[in-house]
Amino acid sequence: MKDHHALFEVLLENVRDAVVVADGERQILRVNKAFEAITGHCARAFVEGEHGHAHVAHQLLEQALTIPPGGRWNGVIRCSDGSDRKFEVTVSAVNGSGDFPEKYIGLVRPAFDDAALADEATIRFGYDPLTGLPGRELFSDRIDQALLSVNRSGKSVALMIMGLDRFALINDALGHAAGDRLLIEVARRLKTCIRETDTAVRLDGDKFALVMVIADLDDSVIVAEKVLSAIKEPFLLDQEEVVVTFSIGIAIYPSDCDNGAQLIKNGDNALHFAKVSGRNQYQFFSKDMNQKARSRLELEARMRRALVNEEFIVYYQPKVSAETGQVVGMEALIRWMDPDLGMISPGEFIPIAEETGLIEEIGTWVLRRSCRQNKYWQDIGLKPLKCSVNVSARQFRSRDLVDIVVDSLESTGLDPKWLELEITESMLMNDVDIVVRKMTALRELGVGLSIDDFGTGYSSLSYLGRFPITTLKIDRAFIADVDTNPKTAEIARAIIGLSRGLNLEVVAEGAEVAGHIAFLREHGCDTVQGFFYSRPVPPDEFERMVRQRAQAYEDRTLALAQPERTA
Ligand code: C2E
Ligand code: MG
Ligand code: MG
Repeated sequence: MKDHHALFEVLLENVRDAVVVADGERQILRVNKAFEAITGHCARAFVEGEHGHAHVAHQLLEQALTIPPGGRWNGVIRCSDGSDRKFEVTVSAVNGSGDFPEKYIGLVRPAFDDAALADEATIRFGYDPLTGLPGRELFSDRIDQALLSVNRSGKSVALMIMGLDRFALINDALGHAAGDRLLIEVARRLKTCIRETDTAVRLDGDKFALVMVIADLDDSVIVAEKVLSAIKEPFLLDQEEVVVTFSIGIAIYPSDCDNGAQLIKNGDNALHFAKVSGRNQYQFFSKDMNQKARSRLELEARMRRALVNEEFIVYYQPKVSAETGQVVGMEALIRWMDPDLGMISPGEFIPIAEETGLIEEIGTWVLRRSCRQNKYWQDIGLKPLKCSVNVSARQFRSRDLVDIVVDSLESTGLDPKWLELEITESMLMNDVDIVVRKMTALRELGVGLSIDDFGTGYSSLSYLGRFPITTLKIDRAFIADVDTNPKTAEIARAIIGLSRGLNLEVVAEGAEVAGHIAFLREHGCDTVQGFFYSRPVPPDEFERMVRQRAQAYEDRTLALAQPERTA
């Protein structure tokens, strides 16, 4: 008997069919894991336990028992998330006459039939009943839609075909029910990696696909990386941590092919290539893209290493008073000294750091390093100067930004008034309330806020008044020909006037020649940053420059004062 019981348990947990067991009074005794998997889509939506699986199971059983045991009931069950789903149930009466059975056992399957097509609410036809994702029927449809849309917009479609590595092993070791639950969780994680406009599809077995419209080919690399790392996190199945990996093949329309069928074929080929190349990776159909992806990955790996090996340095570029020639502030600008590649400019690596998320670590490092440097200069008696630090979009959005700023100030002992954060106009465009709140929190610390590259972001000028900023930095594009082009001169004049009107400090960046300085002075922009005065330089050089300029200023004032004294 005990053996039978054990056998029954093993069977129950490993069959693909959902099973409900009830007693003679129709009270639900249990459901198996496949039941949770098949109705999981609805069950998850129930608020708490008592309405959970038992509720769905009870409804199914009651409905199914409206026909005599042994028959097959087909029908719709309403789930509390409002969705109606169609099931097919066969109930057997066990050990009884039929009227007084000892137990009922119901076998439940999701049902599909043509009537379902007529009534969309009955069942979301074309969706995979296990994972709730669109299934194969919808796959080519979604691809066709995507191709149509990019034909108009000039963007690309990335198709990723993905297979779990060694899924059969898991099925064999833990049983099909566990395998099903793994697939459900995989589907859930996939959905977290994509935007709402992208489609995740379950093709069959352990094979999934993502259809995405992308503006930049790099976007597909980002998503592929995200998927690989989301899948790598251990899955909890029957109290056991299971680690699985994905192989991903990526094909791009229109660069790899000119129709949907070919796109799928290329994706499949790329997947095959990923599998034979050692799994747990993505491969593009095109060799070119593989090369590009590899150099990106390499750069990312180098960047991680650079943080550990302290290959980053902060350079400082002075902001100079056009009136006196004295240094009145500085901007911290990161430099990367790679042991093999030499100096890499921030223009090259900051965008990739931004995409991969490494910018948060790098940005925190720059902030702390430049606060420490600035405090050091004050401690050794240099004239106190305000230091501007660039904050990237992702850093600015990060929840931790304010805490990181507080920590940088507290751990270095720098007075907040000597720190200014530079953000760009585009960061002001979305979620205005959130942005204003964050800026206000920073201003309340006593930190200055500057809009960098001002004039390039197409924001309306009146818009600026809403943000608690302290400084505008005129983009160097407007300074470059300010002395020769009347139109740019007009824009620069307008920005200077606007800053005055809003009571903001105004800084011109990219002043390279004496003509730029003369124009800026004449029009009331006294603070200037640019190669005319100095390029960004390492800290010790910066320190020397500040001292020299202060000395020169003193000498000049003394010299000017001299004749008066002797007279
Ligand atoms: P940005 O914040 O607008 O920095 C000014 C850039 O203009 C710097 O380039 C600087 O070297 C350059 N520049 C200054 N004066 C002149 C000039 O007279 N002529 C010309 N042609 N260029 C001038 P850099 O250092 O290569 O930095 C480029 C951009 O990289 C920065 O633009 C900033 O957006 C970003 N960046 C640099 N350091 C950091 C950092 O620590 N964090 C973040 N998030 N971004 C940074
Ligand atoms: Mg800047
Ligand atoms: Mg700038």
